[in-house]
Amino acid sequence: MGKPTGFMEYQRQLPADRDPLERIGDWQEFHLTLSEEELGKQGARCMDCGIPFCHTGAMVGGMASGCPVNNLISEWNDLVYRGLWKEALDRLFKTNNFPEFTGRVCPAPCEGSCTAGLNGEAVSIKNAEYSIIEKGYKEGWIKPQPPTKRTGKKVAVVGSGPAGLAAADQLNKAGHSVTVYERADRVGGLLMYGIPNMKLDKSFIERRAKIMEQEGITFITNTEVGKDISAKKLKEDYDAIILAGGATKPRDLPAEGRELKGIHFAMDFLHANTKSLLDSKLEDGNFISAEGKDVIVIGGGDTGTDCVGTSIRHKCKTVTQLEIMPQAPVDRAENNPWPQYPKVLKTDYGQEEAIALYGSDPRKYCCMTKKFVGDENGHVKEIHTVEVNWEKDAQGRFIPVEIEGTSRVWPAQLVLLAMGFLGPEDTMLEELGVERDGRSNAKTNEGKYSTNIDGVFAAGDMRRGQSLVVWAINEGRSAAAECDRYLADK
Ligand SMILES: Cc1cc2nc3c(=O)[nH]c(=O)nc-3n(C[C@H](O)[C@H](O)[C@H](O)COP(=O)(O)OP(=O)(O)OC[C@H]3O[C@@H](n4cnc5c(N)ncnc54)[C@H](O)[C@@H]3O)c2cc1C
Ligand code: SF4
Repeated sequence: MGKPTGFMEYQRQLPADRDPLERIGDWQEFHLTLSEEELGKQGARCMDCGIPFCHTGAMVGGMASGCPVNNLISEWNDLVYRGLWKEALDRLFKTNNFPEFTGRVCPAPCEGSCTAGLNGEAVSIKNAEYSIIEKGYKEGWIKPQPPTKRTGKKVAVVGSGPAGLAAADQLNKAGHSVTVYERADRVGGLLMYGIPNMKLDKSFIERRAKIMEQEGITFITNTEVGKDISAKKLKEDYDAIILAGGATKPRDLPAEGRELKGIHFAMDFLHANTKSLLDSKLEDGNFISAEGKDVIVIGGGDTGTDCVGTSIRHKCKTVTQLEIMPQAPVDRAENNPWPQYPKVLKTDYGQEEAIALYGSDPRKYCCMTKKFVGDENGHVKEIHTVEVNWEKDAQGRFIPVEIEGTSRVWPAQLVLLAMGFLGPEDTMLEELGVERDGRSNAKTNEGKYSTNIDGVFAAGDMRRGQSLVVWAINEGRSAAAECDRYLADK
């Protein structure tokens, strides 16, 4: 445990972020760091609460609570408090392959179930995780550790997002020879081409991939399984396959005028931006520019926030984020008690930047798109909306009901659709004959990762549906463990 009285002596403290008006001038990360002395105090706030929920990743009232990879949080908080950073790093690696990713982008469900947060402020767990791993890199403690023995078994992993990377890392450590196939030109999945650089600098993904290569993992990029190489060929050539292709089918908005130019899926906007940034610092012009435009982002979630932050860095004229759902409450609702993940209003980095720049929150709630209207060149020029109330229908389901007299027209030369994802793409799953569940994800039995096809496993968003990086890591590790047992019996 940390210091028994630490939670009474020290206040929760997070490192400051770079000033919004300064950081929008570049694409660098915006979080700063705390001193080691301050981090020790933050570790001391962990209060030996008897039954910590922070590391459980358990379902409470139908909602996941605590850390999905079961990080040994209380242990490393204590080690940080005592200045035993190397030992803290060893503990962290027992459960999490990539703390440098979660320490940056995880929404920290652990903190939502921290006991100190019951009637005070949660321990700053995510920041401790970030600080431990970055100290590990700085001190040179993180070195390639190839397995000492090889099993002679070969595994193909399809997809290099956090699920594929975690599965590859675990299977390689177990001595199997692992090849990762990725259709993009760089590895990382949504870590690379979804989450923007200012939230997760891409050099940290390259740093990790290089270590994994030195440990013996082969990465084959620019290769789509099902197109450039058949899935059946993989089945013949490898002893097992892990499918970790993500859930990349975007939800569309079939409103009048959807076919107009200037209306794009968020991922087309974000992917092209990061690729151009990495290839040429945006000099090649191979991206969808928001410069000088009135931008409307449809969708109030994290992807929408990333579109807001990216549009602002392009120097858009205005940016508005439309959300059909009502605003979340400021405090936990009665049906969302501790230790569940708190579904409360958060002002994320993109909104902070919009507030600093334009003076108001870009989010408009209960706002439904009716149609898009174009100019004489077939390019979108405005979007028509109406406000809605959420009311119960005869079956007791909440449905949006239009409020009379609330029609509104917004100027828009760029519209970004960020309304979530419908599930995985079909080609590879169909070629292999993998069964799907009711939401079209790769189907496995409860708590299992093996599909209906012998030797084929599924993990991450492809099995679970769009989720979080930390869940993808959990899935990759769990699928690898099951695959390893399968290979042992083979
Ligand atoms: C814009 C955006 C921002 C997000 N921000 C956050 C965040 O801040 N924090 C967080 O925790 N989560 C965030 N998420 C969610 C998180 O990124 C995903 O849940 C996670 O990346 C899923 O990991 P995965 O490995 O299952 O799939 P992915 O990361 O989607 O990776 C799948 C990979 O498989 C490749 N692939 C697919 N099919 C094939 C094929 N046939 N052949 C070869 N390769 C193939 C794809 O190119 C891709 O690289 C965000 C998601 C989006 C879209
Ligand atoms: S991975 Fe996420 S949930 Fe787990 S300890 Fe880190 S920040 Fe918390």
